[in-house]
Amino acid sequence: MSINYPDATGARRGPQVLARLKEYPPNLWYRGEQVADVTTHPALRGGVHTLAALYDLQWAQAERTLFDSPTSGRKVARSFMLPRTHEELRSITVAMKVWEDYTHGMMGRVPDYINRAIAGYAAGAPFLSEADPRFGSNAVRYHEYLREHDLCLTHTLIPPQANRAASLAKQADPYLAARVKQETDAGIVIRGCRMLATLPISDEIMVFPSTVLKAGEEDAPYAFGFSIPNHTPGLKFICRESVDHGRSHFDHPLGSRFEEMDAVVIFDDVFVPWENVFLYRDVLRCNQAYARTGAVVHMTHQVIVKNIAKAEFMLGLAYLLVDSIGAEGFQHIHEKLSELWVGMETMKAFLRAAEADAALDEWGVMRPAWNPLDAARNLFPRLYPRMVEIIQQIGASGLVAMPVEQDLKGPLVEDIRHYYQAARAEAFDRIPLFRLAWDASLSAFASRQVLYERFFFGDPVRMAGALVTGHQAEIREQAERVRQFVREGRDEAFGAQ
Ligand SMILES: Cc1cc2nc3c(=O)[nH]c(=O)nc-3n(C[C@H](O)[C@H](O)[C@H](O)COP(=O)(O)OP(=O)(O)OC[C@H]3O[C@@H](n4cnc5c(N)ncnc54)[C@H](O)[C@@H]3O)c2cc1C
Repeated sequence: MSINYPDATGARRGPQVLARLKEYPPNLWYRGEQVADVTTHPALRGGVHTLAALYDLQWAQAERTLFDSPTSGRKVARSFMLPRTHEELRSITVAMKVWEDYTHGMMGRVPDYINRAIAGYAAGAPFLSEADPRFGSNAVRYHEYLREHDLCLTHTLIPPQANRAASLAKQADPYLAARVKQETDAGIVIRGCRMLATLPISDEIMVFPSTVLKAGEEDAPYAFGFSIPNHTPGLKFICRESVDHGRSHFDHPLGSRFEEMDAVVIFDDVFVPWENVFLYRDVLRCNQAYARTGAVVHMTHQVIVKNIAKAEFMLGLAYLLVDSIGAEGFQHIHEKLSELWVGMETMKAFLRAAEADAALDEWGVMRPAWNPLDAARNLFPRLYPRMVEIIQQIGASGLVAMPVEQDLKGPLVEDIRHYYQAARAEAFDRIPLFRLAWDASLSAFASRQVLYERFFFGDPVRMAGALVTGHQAEIREQAERVRQFVREGRDEAFGAQ
């Protein structure tokens, strides 16, 4: 079934990424206007150029990030790999860490994230084929297509936030949430909306069921999984306001580099050919798909690598703040640094456990152990807001008493040089450090990061619900041991009951 794709390049470099986005512009709307070119648009170009830089980086670190395609022999991104051994699984971690270190975990949707999901779906193709043999082979072919062309994806999973008390079918308008409008011999037509897609500055979109929410039988018209190019007719992305304010790297070190953008996705009678469909009107299968194929596990593997890079960054940043203003002797500062360190080590330990306990799954893929990953994805949404709070508590007024680049080029520069000095940093070192701390803890970029970590994998409340349901047997096992202990005490006092 393998196709050689003579036009494919394998792993891309930055200029190829930019050229494709220019040639096939995603249909983005920003402040009421269609974006003609994401590579030059002021609200988006910072993130787009970082994306391109990531693809250059994969070639600069090719031994770590690339491998030989099993079908074409081309060098392709390791995040597309279906690992068969512990060593291969570990090599994917190492590859993913390269991009995460570059972005300090601040670009949650580096393309590895969806690459791992698509690899998972390709691995679990037999599960998709149980519904329709075309669907499994579509997943395998699509995975190969993405890998050989090294395309970059966004994804959208959940319906718009209109009425959360009613099911999809019972919203004010049955076409509020994206649903099947028509089915033909050639494909399906989709009308309606999906809540959000991060990284719409990409080539294609994966439109799948939620990883967490479960649908009911009446939701069959809303139950599907497919992928299409972002320039498909009728597909529209309405972007939120950018957190890249067009300022320099000096003034806005994170926002000017790592704005990945989020957008609402509208399907205006979008035609999806059957070749691009992986799940269709099968509520039960849609509810099970992420778990059964293993896609959710492979994605969470990527997420935990991101968490580690982010936790490392916040620890390093906190330490530099402390050191610069001579706060290292205070006990509560030790407590805060230790809290950051423990958070970082906890994520590393979860990753180690997930790798060490990985096992071949029913598809013959080395799947990381789910329990530590599930624990990590439930814990980090609580750890990250606290990490940001610690930066605020350490930085204090230093986070707002900060001049910008223009001040340093203005007539007051000597005043600034004098009055902005710190115990262990000259003003010209202290100012960019504190600007970075501001962008990590206080700016619009920073608060969007907090919201992202709280919610991007799903509502934490319902994720906790899914955790309790999913780990019922392990929880009951512990409960049984305690019950036994209670009974022993009771029997000792009253005799066996
Ligand atoms: C920055 C960011 C990026 C994101 N990127 C993506 C993306 O790329 N692709 C994608 O598909 N999604 C993305 N998401 C969306 C994410 O999946 C959702 O935020 C998450 O699933 C929660 O859904 P919601 O935001 O609609 O909140 P809602 O479901 O509307 O919840 C709002 C509030 O109501 C409560 N609530 C609602 N229903 C219930 C219930 N049944 N029981 C208990 N409490 C309830 C919630 O706990 C919450 O407090 C992103 C989110 C953010 C913030």
